[in-house]
Amino acid sequence: MTQRIQHVYFFGDGVHHDLSNPNDVLGCKGANLAEMTRLGLPVPPGFTVSTVACRNYYEGDETLSPELVEEATRCLERLERITDRALGDPERPLLVSVRSGASVSMPGMMDTILNLGLNDDVVAGIAARPGMARFAYDAYRRFLEMYSEVVLGMKAGKLAQLFERVKIRAGAEWDHEVDVESLKHLVDLYKQTIWTKTGTAFPMDPMEQLWGALAGVFKSWNNRRAVEYRQLYSIPQHLGTAVTIQRMVFGNLDDSSATGVALTRDPSSGEKVFYGEYLPNAQGEDVVAGLHTPRPIKSDPTDQWSGPSLEQSMPEVYQQLEDVVNRLEQHFGDLQDIEFTVEQGKLWMLQTRSGKRSAKAAIRIAVEMVEEGLISPQKGLLQIQPQHVAHLVHPTFSPDSKQEARAEGRALARGLPASPGAESGPIVFTPARAVEMAGKGKRPILVRTETIPDDIHGVSRSCGILTTRGGMTSHAAVVARGMGKCCIVGCRDAEILKGKETILRVGGRVFREGDELSLDGGTGEVFSGSIEKISPDLGREYETLLRWIDRFSPIHVLANAHTPHEIRTALAFGAGGVGLCRTEHLFTSPERMRAVQEMILAPNEDARRAVIQRLLPLQIEDYKDIFKAVGSYPITMRLLDPPLNEFLPGEEESLADLAEALGESLSELHARIRRLRETNPLFGHRGCRIGVTFPEMYEMQVEAILRAAKQVETEDGIAATPSIMVPFISTPRELEFVRVSCTTHLERVAREIDFHRYLPFGTMIELPNAIIQAEELAREVDFFNFGTNDLTQAVLGISREDSRQFMPLYIDIGLLPDDPFGHLHPSIRTLITEAVRKGRKGNPDLRIGLCGDHANEPENAEFLVEKAIDYLSCSPYRVPVVRLATARAALEGMKG
Ligand code: PEP
Ligand code: MG
Repeated sequence: MTQRIQHVYFFGDGVHHDLSNPNDVLGCKGANLAEMTRLGLPVPPGFTVSTVACRNYYEGDETLSPELVEEATRCLERLERITDRALGDPERPLLVSVRSGASVSMPGMMDTILNLGLNDDVVAGIAARPGMARFAYDAYRRFLEMYSEVVLGMKAGKLAQLFERVKIRAGAEWDHEVDVESLKHLVDLYKQTIWTKTGTAFPMDPMEQLWGALAGVFKSWNNRRAVEYRQLYSIPQHLGTAVTIQRMVFGNLDDSSATGVALTRDPSSGEKVFYGEYLPNAQGEDVVAGLHTPRPIKSDPTDQWSGPSLEQSMPEVYQQLEDVVNRLEQHFGDLQDIEFTVEQGKLWMLQTRSGKRSAKAAIRIAVEMVEEGLISPQKGLLQIQPQHVAHLVHPTFSPDSKQEARAEGRALARGLPASPGAESGPIVFTPARAVEMAGKGKRPILVRTETIPDDIHGVSRSCGILTTRGGMTSHAAVVARGMGKCCIVGCRDAEILKGKETILRVGGRVFREGDELSLDGGTGEVFSGSIEKISPDLGREYETLLRWIDRFSPIHVLANAHTPHEIRTALAFGAGGVGLCRTEHLFTSPERMRAVQEMILAPNEDARRAVIQRLLPLQIEDYKDIFKAVGSYPITMRLLDPPLNEFLPGEEESLADLAEALGESLSELHARIRRLRETNPLFGHRGCRIGVTFPEMYEMQVEAILRAAKQVETEDGIAATPSIMVPFISTPRELEFVRVSCTTHLERVAREIDFHRYLPFGTMIELPNAIIQAEELAREVDFFNFGTNDLTQAVLGISREDSRQFMPLYIDIGLLPDDPFGHLHPSIRTLITEAVRKGRKGNPDLRIGLCGDHANEPENAEFLVEKAIDYLSCSPYRVPVVRLATARAALEGMKG
């Protein structure tokens, strides 16, 4: 006989589950209610329908299975027994709440129904008790509103509008001023409206209500905002929600009742203070709705509050609450965010969960809890999210100044917080204007519908980026995160209008070029005008965090840094060196650019060699600056990679000078430029192919590296440790050709300058064929460095630059799990696994790293740690984030 899988779990009456993974099965809310019950804390009894039941619901025909109904019915009967109440009984009514709760936190994204079990008879029964009529009809009204929206599909707020009208007619300003008769009338009106709008009568049978509510809450897993939230936070779409059905307790029965929320520490500063608010004679939603000013839970003599604290008005309840809360924090070893209700003097715990906190608080709480002996450093580290650290290393707006801006009505809109930081500046609408404005010493904010790779010059000269479209892995988001620039994307409430003049319309106002905006990249908020900034205050706790990271991270985190400034930034953030220095970044000055152009266009080898010799001293100087910045940390110098096409002069450029320098006629030069132009430069004359066609170019670069290393050693006493890396290798023959040409030249130069330093030699792995032949390639080199940007393009056949036309749709309709340029695509993971295996077989001493933009994203850390690669190389500003992500991944891996 096959054993039936349990889908409904009771809590209360001394009963609790024996699940090993309660969060996955019961959702966080259900699991914590069960846990509080197990600890003997006062929790209203109830039962939780598992996430598995929700998944079955979706995998089947979206109906509740007879087995599920039977199991839930048994639990309901038990609930009725232990509460001595019954669903639908007007004398001893049981009312329940039906709440959603997934295994990952999705605050407010799904639905909840309260007061279920009310119908015309039950409400009359409750109303007949002395002093209960208003309470009864108000509860009924709330239930009808929630049920009609969640279960019967009525438009949100439809019934609430009717309530507003009734309030006006009754001359009431606040909900509680509406009298019983008006509420009775309102309830009738609600029922009629439900009938006319949905064609269904509101169900009077409480069991029908219950099954409707259960299915309705299951359905809310897939409402639009929940789906979008999961996309945003990379939460798998298939997990499903659990549903908890629990006896209602009421904080609005009388003056000995109350409701409140509390946190065990201050979620903004992290300080250890019991922090919370309550409202006497009120329901939970009243605290949130802000109709009344909540009162403090704990007395604070320095504060002028409007009413007495819970400590003063209900001292016994307060004492009990404080004990419960301390116990919860100790038990869970984390900041707890709790909801409670006091029903006629009795305390009930309705929820506990780990509390959301600011970046600063996250680090302080973790460090202090370790110091208090409450948790281990491992657990402390797992409580700090990579995102917290990302926020911490950037400036923020001063809270006071931001509050002032809000009070002045300057908060305009909110987009997706793609890259942290806080910036105020004049807006521009084109990269060219950003460059111009930056040239005049201003710090512009670039506003675009979305950015494209061609905008990069404007992005790099702006202090912040705002786009009206795009998601967290859009081009603007990825590039800004990499550059450590404040960026808000997908700000749908903003619109760019193009006419004679470009105009930004946001928050009902218009802004033209030069008008000032402020962006908070940590929250996604957009303000008009400027706001005062404060520098990051990392504090002593940050030092402790770095020590933990050093202890637990199994991977070296290096940086992709190409200029002395970037290198210094990266080292200051704790990079262990430079894993990728793209040497082409040093060709940007007009003099160097011109020399590269002459090299490409030179009519013959002699002419080319002559130009390259002109580049040698310039390169030596550039590399010396680089080596001085990096000191004795390792640095990987990548030889020239970009398609030569990128260096060709543009059509509009004056070529007379160049023609003269090359000793050619203008028409000859034009003809050659046309011949050299490529239709698909991505797979054209680039990477190691340059080292094959123009070996003298790579030879010059390695010579410059060796000479610069010698000079900084003799002149500055710096023992530079550069490695040489060849890009875009496909075959072992190609690699051998380039390696022999470079090393032969290096040996000759080493003899000439009497500087015999071994420069480790490695290759990027960024083409599918390099993976197929990884074993042979590994025999040729000291290290592999995965270039997952190119690898992703080549394997998926998607040009990153051109993907924005179709990628959002592909992700939206599930043809791709995520943006493959942010998250490592499953096929790329398979290929990396394969290349690591083959590489280590070909060369057991091979060092393996990854330097594509994927190194920046904490989501990829777990896979890379699992593959035991030796290092990651990411953008300078991402170093602390990636270091934390790798340490966390290692600890998660140990947990198994
Ligand atoms: C890559 O392809 O992942 C890489 C790091 O090289 P680039 O981005 O410079 O092409
Ligand atoms: Mg590449």
